[in-house]
Amino acid sequence: METKTNQFKAEIAEMLDLVVNSLYSKKEIFLRELISNASDAIDRAKYLSLTQKDLAADNPQWRIEIAVDKAAGTMTIADNGIGMDAADLEQNLGTIASSGTKAFRQALKEKGGEALPELIGQFGVGFYAAFMVADKVRVVTKKRGGEAAFAWESDLGGSYTIADAERPEGFGTSITLHLREEQREYLDYWRVSDLVKKYSDFIAYPISFRTIGAVDGEKEEDKKRREEREAKPLNTQIALWKRQKKDVKNEEYEEFYKHLTHDYDAPAETIPFSGEGAVEFKALLFLPKKASMDLFMPNQKRGLSLYVRNVFIGDDMEMLLPPWLRFVKGVVDSSDLPLNVSREMLQDDAVVAKIKSAVTAKLLSTLEDMKKKGEKYDEFFASFGAVLKEGVHTDWTNADRIKKLLKYPTARGEAGKRIFLEDYVKAMPSDQKDIYYICAEREEDARRAPQIENARRHGCDVLIFCDPVDEYLTESLREFDGRKFVDVARGEVQFGSEAEQKAEKEQNEKAAGELKDLIEAVKKTLADAVADVRVSTRLADSPCCLVAREYALPPSMVRMMRAMKQEVPDEKRILELNASHPLVKKIAAMAGEEQADAARMIYDAALIAEGSPVADGSRFVKALCALMMK
Ligand code: ADP
Repeated sequence: METKTNQFKAEIAEMLDLVVNSLYSKKEIFLRELISNASDAIDRAKYLSLTQKDLAADNPQWRIEIAVDKAAGTMTIADNGIGMDAADLEQNLGTIASSGTKAFRQALKEKGGEALPELIGQFGVGFYAAFMVADKVRVVTKKRGGEAAFAWESDLGGSYTIADAERPEGFGTSITLHLREEQREYLDYWRVSDLVKKYSDFIAYPISFRTIGAVDGEKEEDKKRREEREAKPLNTQIALWKRQKKDVKNEEYEEFYKHLTHDYDAPAETIPFSGEGAVEFKALLFLPKKASMDLFMPNQKRGLSLYVRNVFIGDDMEMLLPPWLRFVKGVVDSSDLPLNVSREMLQDDAVVAKIKSAVTAKLLSTLEDMKKKGEKYDEFFASFGAVLKEGVHTDWTNADRIKKLLKYPTARGEAGKRIFLEDYVKAMPSDQKDIYYICAEREEDARRAPQIENARRHGCDVLIFCDPVDEYLTESLREFDGRKFVDVARGEVQFGSEAEQKAEKEQNEKAAGELKDLIEAVKKTLADAVADVRVSTRLADSPCCLVAREYALPPSMVRMMRAMKQEVPDEKRILELNASHPLVKKIAAMAGEEQADAARMIYDAALIAEGSPVADGSRFVKALCALMMK
């Protein structure tokens, strides 16, 4: 083929510009990224050759080599992995995977150039980190199964070339970095060797170092010593999950986690463990500190990496984790699975199911331990609580244990502070039987809601369900510690001891009798807006509030059904009046149009009090003005 010059896609050009101009102090991570890519390329080749034997017809010794040429100022990272053809080169090194593009640009905008190196790893654009230390990069590669080799080259300036090439070593990829003058430290054996130990020690293939050409002024014995040094691999290649926890340094776990996830933060929790008994496996799991941006996206990458007898089978194996633990990262290595399994077969494999349940049990007990750690758990819960909650709905075997891990803000608590359900139950007054909750969009709306006034007066706290998933989950929560969950803004609720409730009931019936005319009149006036009007048991200071009918569809459900183009009639609610409120008494004394106006007014006021829009704002304002003029 002729040499083809291509322009980088805009987002790459933009990123490369930042790479070049970045003053980031940790430029050294370029090596980790390139070694990681080389290792992935070998993983792929090894895996594919399980079924396509001819891909490994050259009988390769899988390896990664770092060759430096001091005179030329170059470093070449070579692997004998899967390799690329011309189309791959264009696709892989000329664009950012389109799914990641938008998120990448967004994060770049938010975090600025300083965070670039972390973002590079996170968004799968690790290759470009090469330009942090090099002003020209040349990739020579030959794809396994293909005939020809190709070269990709760029010295920035917005474009790259692809041309025919020779790769005498055969299949695989060599990436040559023309190091900038001030980055020549990476030509030094000790510097490189330290970096490999620091970031890539666990890489499963030997990483060797080789000096190309003669070294100026090197004595014969120095040369001999150097060659001895270079004959040994730089990394130990021991899979971290196979080592005893006590023999592994924290930093090693941390680097492995970063390699695995492209996260730039250390993990919140590292969990090495082995499964024994029914299935034997080793696992190394991590809880990240922060949620990834795609945690709630349907196409989020989830699951663990799977190895079978040292062969990498694949990452994002979602069948190894229940969906409510999808934020967990890590590796599972089992010798009880056959090598030639497809993803589809793993989906309903009995061994996989056993591993999944052992992994789930381990994670549950880890979270139960973490729960005792206070602040640390709170940070974890702030990031992943919403996902855990899904487990109550989807994982019936573990629902009871999961409930104990959930925390909620409460009406009585400080803003932003959450409590466990067992602490809520402990603090209940002796005559409170049920667990009370209220759904609201924001915590502060719930604390101000008139519907909880009477609960408060009786010393009952109210859980605030303000996570978007909470409302869906109320059905699945069912009960905790033998107590029902009761929505204080729905149906009929009464507070206090049995005697108090009885007295209140009698009082209400009496009040309802006295207010009969008012209730009838208001019902008539608001017939289009409310399902019923009645005397309230939940108000203390406010004149009125709106509550849902006992079996009404929750608003979130209505929204969802409408989004699915189903016809759902507006769910009318019940207007409750506070019989002992002076305003209500006053309206009761009115008649005709004056009373009707007042009824509309307090209905609108009830909507405003809970943060809902009024149906006819201008009518409300007119009425308000008229009232103020009086
Ligand atoms: P990521 O590795 O996260 O996908 P990179 O920008 O580092 O992102 O690499 C882009 C793509 O280029 C890789 O997904 C891979 O397909 C290809 N690639 C990079 N390095 C190699 C290599 N040494 N051998 C084969 N393919 C490679």
